[in-house]
Amino acid sequence: MRPLKNILFLLILIPFLISISACSKNPYYKRNEFALGTVIQITCSDQRAIDIAFNEIKRVENLLSKYVSDSEVSKLNTSGKLKVGPDLLYVLTKAKEFYITSNGAFDVTVGPLVDIWKKAIKNKVLPQEEDIKKAMQLVGFDKVVIDEKESTVAFLKEGMSIDLGAIGKGYAVDCAIKKVRDYGTKSCLIAIAGDIYCLGNKNGEPWQIGIQHPRNKKDLLDALNLENQAVSTSGDYQQMVIIGNKRYSHIIDPRTGFPSDSKVISATVLAPDCLSADALATTIFVLGKTKGMDLVKYYKNTKALIYTEDEVNAFDTF
Ligand code: AMP
Ligand code: MG
Repeated sequence: MRPLKNILFLLILIPFLISISACSKNPYYKRNEFALGTVIQITCSDQRAIDIAFNEIKRVENLLSKYVSDSEVSKLNTSGKLKVGPDLLYVLTKAKEFYITSNGAFDVTVGPLVDIWKKAIKNKVLPQEEDIKKAMQLVGFDKVVIDEKESTVAFLKEGMSIDLGAIGKGYAVDCAIKKVRDYGTKSCLIAIAGDIYCLGNKNGEPWQIGIQHPRNKKDLLDALNLENQAVSTSGDYQQMVIIGNKRYSHIIDPRTGFPSDSKVISATVLAPDCLSADALATTIFVLGKTKGMDLVKYYKNTKALIYTEDEVNAFDTF
């Protein structure tokens, strides 16, 4: 009689347990911090994993940011030749790959031009053509020598400088995701501004990512449901200046020395890793919609959502 009683009890208990587990949701923790010149948002089911991710992002910032005076990038920009660690070596090797596949539209040696246009955006004054011409002589990844065996990087012209603003944040996201994954975390969202990785899902549902409308800050252009995927958006609305009715953004076309004029105003790339998504989103901005799409097709498991000014206007009137 006793075992039967137990079985009955279990039969009653099992559906009860199943319904509890179906309803129960893991708590999530969210923290924002400032690094890499922007706001970083991490949402994770484990508080310790959030610490691990932020520590890793700061480690990468201290190596790759040109705004950190003793970073490897700052040292390379000052000396023109440096024995570098595995992080910078890897990022520069990937940067070279994107320089080649984009036919020079993606070029981290835009440093001198970025500095000129950053000043223009801040002061709302267009730079002198002469200064742009001079800076352009210092631009070109073909003037960078990477010796993978020796782990050295050298510039062939004095005054050259690299700027990893278009690829470094994506790399930092990838590094942080690797760390939290190794720690055992299965669910985490790391967003360094528009460079994001969605690890796993959130309580069985995909992570929801909104793409900001490039003209109306409060609206969304699109919404994505993602799991184990990276997504990056480049837009002409984050850092820009309007002079004489013309918008000048922070993404430079290395072939003209001027901010990109491709008519793309928002480019989102979905990719298996965030470094690639980051680099490709910036590249599309320079290449324009047609050539940008062609480049994205060249990369496996990679997709893009590209909007031009006209398309966004049409979308708004719809
Ligand atoms: P993102 O916001 O990821 O599109 O990157 C833009 C940043 O990348 C700029 O603020 C510059 O620091 C840098 N950058 C600008 N133009 C280029 C370019 N054509 N290739 C590589 N990096 C660039
Ligand atoms: Mg980018």
